[in-house]
Amino acid sequence: MGSRFMPAFADPKELRALQLEGLKWTVSHAYAGSSFYRERLDEAGVHPEDIRSLEDLRSLPFTTADDLREGYPFPLLSVPLSKVVRIHSSSGTTGKRKILAYTQKDLDDWAHFFARCYEMAELTPEDRVQISVGYGLWTAGVGFQLGCEKFGAMAIPVGPGNIDLQCEFLVDLQSTVLCCTASMALLMAEEIQRRGLRDRIALRKLIYGSERSSDSMRRRIKELLGLEDMFDIPGMTELYGPGTGLECPRHEGIHYWADYYILEILDPVTLEPVPEGEIGEMVVTTLRKEAAPLIRYRTRDLTRWVGHPCSCGSPLPLHDRILGRSDDMIIFRGVNIYPGQIDQILSEMDEIGSEYQIVLERGEDGRDYMTVRVERLQDVPAQRNPQIEGRIAEEIKKRILVSCRVEAVDYGALPRSERKSKRIFDRRPQ
Ligand code: ZN
Repeated sequence: MGSRFMPAFADPKELRALQLEGLKWTVSHAYAGSSFYRERLDEAGVHPEDIRSLEDLRSLPFTTADDLREGYPFPLLSVPLSKVVRIHSSSGTTGKRKILAYTQKDLDDWAHFFARCYEMAELTPEDRVQISVGYGLWTAGVGFQLGCEKFGAMAIPVGPGNIDLQCEFLVDLQSTVLCCTASMALLMAEEIQRRGLRDRIALRKLIYGSERSSDSMRRRIKELLGLEDMFDIPGMTELYGPGTGLECPRHEGIHYWADYYILEILDPVTLEPVPEGEIGEMVVTTLRKEAAPLIRYRTRDLTRWVGHPCSCGSPLPLHDRILGRSDDMIIFRGVNIYPGQIDQILSEMDEIGSEYQIVLERGEDGRDYMTVRVERLQDVPAQRNPQIEGRIAEEIKKRILVSCRVEAVDYGALPRSERKSKRIFDRRPQ
């Protein structure tokens, strides 16, 4: 099967030319069509004709979630409303929800690059894709479905929840691919195990997204469902929706669709590019989006570059998984620390569970101190504390380059909640 949805460019040079063309188009389009962007660009003293190279991207002003909320209900709109054929909305964590508008071309583009996800995951038209994510205002379901139909596989739009129906379709329709969040996949995997359905289902692949997942969680899902492969899929409503990239079968990172948007990874404080391997905030600039183009939109999502070209041979560049949110960043003794980094180190340690707390305090000597509290697993005796604490402190020192105190506590001693647990306690005077 030849490539139907992969980009036309062959090397980084061709990609840069394509991106420059898209950048020029986006800036002129936004300047002409949106009073918001025109004002912003004027303020920054940049005019569309000033964009002559990709480096000129750096002269453009940033856009943030606040700009989207202030422009409610049609933020960043750069076309007449008569050209808008659909809206989607995501719930903001604070205040007004974000609404994003789409033209028909935006929807066509989205379907095209979503079909690319299925192509990258090496699906065939024989595949049956059970789509178990939300539909409606939320971008996920319809994105998965349009892409699937465009690709030519069979879409089974079940939507989220309803485990009985999910299991029924997995058995009766012999779905080969499941699309859902990692936590739903784990739930389904355990349910299929409990009901003894493993031998009656035909699942081969999982495409999962929209939240963080640990290595152990992914391993368990793969094992219980007997999967061949599973793929992390990124995406956000501001940038069309899900499907803006996909983990490739070699699992060296996430290939992102650099022919549809430019990705910058910047230090969230200085807004300067971070060196390869260091964590920064993803900032995106769209290259073809008509209704609500993004110019240097600060996503708050954190990741890092995977510098080497992928061994799969795809010219599409790679970034790492989403490693957290920049709002959670801590500055400790001049070092930017993301809870996700601590999380990752702890998840590789045996003898401890997944709960932890980070406490920051200022000592009498005026210096800042960090304490990381972890929980021993149920069957690990308290006598092991010194070894556990020493090993974690050493690993944090080695990988994040900061010294901290580690305190191992009894199993169950740290509070749990169904919602996101509070893990950071910054008690330093502001
Ligand atoms: Zn690859």
